[in-house]
Amino acid sequence: MQPFTQEQTSYLSGFMEGVRQIQAEGLPFLGQNANGQFTNDASLAVAQEETVHGTPIDDLCKEERIKHEQNGLDCYDTILAHAMENKFVEGDDLFRFKFYGMFHVTPAQESYMLRARIPGCVLKTHQFRGLAEIARDWGSGYCDVTTRGNLQVRELMPPNLPATLDKLVDLGLTSKGSGADNVRNVTATPTTGFDKDELIDVMPLAKGMHHYILNNRDLYGLPRKFNISFDSGGAISVCADTNDIAFYAVRLKEETDGLEPGVYFRMQLCGITGHKQFATDSGVLLTPSETIPVAAAILRVFIENGDRTNRKKARLKYLVDKWGIPKLLEETAEKLTFPLRHIPLESCEVPKPKVKHGHLGVYKQKDDRNYIGVVIPVGRTPVDMVDKLCDIADQYGSGEVRLTVWQNLIIPNVPDEQVEEAKKAIIAAGCHYSATSISGGLIACTGNTGCKFAATNTKGNSVELAKILESRVELDQPINIHLTGCNHSCAQHYIGDIGMMGVQVKLDSGEKVDGYNIVLGGGVDDDQFVAKEAFKGIPYSQIPDLLECLLKTYQANRQDRETFAQ
Ligand code: SF4
Repeated sequence: MQPFTQEQTSYLSGFMEGVRQIQAEGLPFLGQNANGQFTNDASLAVAQEETVHGTPIDDLCKEERIKHEQNGLDCYDTILAHAMENKFVEGDDLFRFKFYGMFHVTPAQESYMLRARIPGCVLKTHQFRGLAEIARDWGSGYCDVTTRGNLQVRELMPPNLPATLDKLVDLGLTSKGSGADNVRNVTATPTTGFDKDELIDVMPLAKGMHHYILNNRDLYGLPRKFNISFDSGGAISVCADTNDIAFYAVRLKEETDGLEPGVYFRMQLCGITGHKQFATDSGVLLTPSETIPVAAAILRVFIENGDRTNRKKARLKYLVDKWGIPKLLEETAEKLTFPLRHIPLESCEVPKPKVKHGHLGVYKQKDDRNYIGVVIPVGRTPVDMVDKLCDIADQYGSGEVRLTVWQNLIIPNVPDEQVEEAKKAIIAAGCHYSATSISGGLIACTGNTGCKFAATNTKGNSVELAKILESRVELDQPINIHLTGCNHSCAQHYIGDIGMMGVQVKLDSGEKVDGYNIVLGGGVDDDQFVAKEAFKGIPYSQIPDLLECLLKTYQANRQDRETFAQ
């Protein structure tokens, strides 16, 4: 472990002074329990309960027991203590730190990863620059765009965690609930508010949902993680059908059951593509203002009834498998002050099909300005590039960027006369905006440089793969390639045209090398399909040739714009 820098010493000595003052006033602050863990009286009181939502304490799985003994939201003292002692978290607190979006990624790396929350996937440039400062000053020098339109910063060391958390708040951001058993970053159509095809601006709903979750402590007590997404009915996919709750904007064609024609939301439930399942229509139609209360009610039903004994059966899907959607809706309705409206799907006009890779390239907005989708291969954005992209957004746009679940970003609100200059500046920044490049459709999870579950170096392999394939194959339509390091499928390989899951492959010589199982034909929304396994245990060294052959054969033999699935 490195000694403290002067900056760390002065920052932490400020905390020490605060701690001394609080202790002098006799308030419980940094107490230690019988196991030597830093804790406080309130958390010990919680531990005296006999059941957790009806599950006896003795039956709780490990993570539930950890949460029961001390709520992860109460581990801030522990974060301070570990920072002051310049030591990494161990044991049960490793899980609790994730409530603050702090992941100790050992053994992949002796460092922390910060996962922020970016509600609706929108950032002001001062926020993006601030995140880049965290990465530059204390982390790896990269901001990583995630598959939830969120940002992660890697290689943070213990003494910098308090300053990192403080800085996030100063930027108007937070990382609370971005890991562990919480509602993850709430996503929205990345072009919402300026998409000329959309039915409704869903940004206020995504932000409203985010703040509702943040400010209700009971909603941090889920049995497992939970995803919520809002689709505006616009041209760009946000992969809403891969979420536990997906709100899709639709138009009700004519008066139905006393409901005026207009824009409403269909509610889909239980998307979990790692388990090969898309969200399905619940039969419920909601007004925009009903979406947040209904999502909150479902969360509370899940909290009270989800499985707390077996992590593998703890997602919402398994409660619905046991109950069926009608019972889930019945229980949900009991928590609402308004009835749930069951309207057949056929009464609703489904929006236009999504534009595949419409988040890349230059497009007209509804106010006649333009948005430019910029390719960031697998979301790895060096901090100097962040600064340059922010300069472009400030100079030619409106000081705003949108992150996409495809690990790229969008610069909106560029007037016609500035488009050419902005495009040149994007190229000068080392990026591009082509919708038909391999790198534009490349998605990769963290991989073995930062995740203990990974079998392979997904980010490294994917960037190298894209370079090789771009030199050999010229695409004339968008293709998605998703690389995921293990079966948790954070990069959602089952929805890629080509999906790859990392495995260790044993060669004839007995040597073990990085390799992949390959699935083909996945898609979301209008192209919804779970990709099917095509190849198993292919060493990574053989994959460039295999994919080159696959892509060339596909392009030579497809009819019209037939997808891999067809
Ligand atoms: Fe880690 Fe597996 Fe998720 Fe990749 S898919 S980030 S390896 S847990």
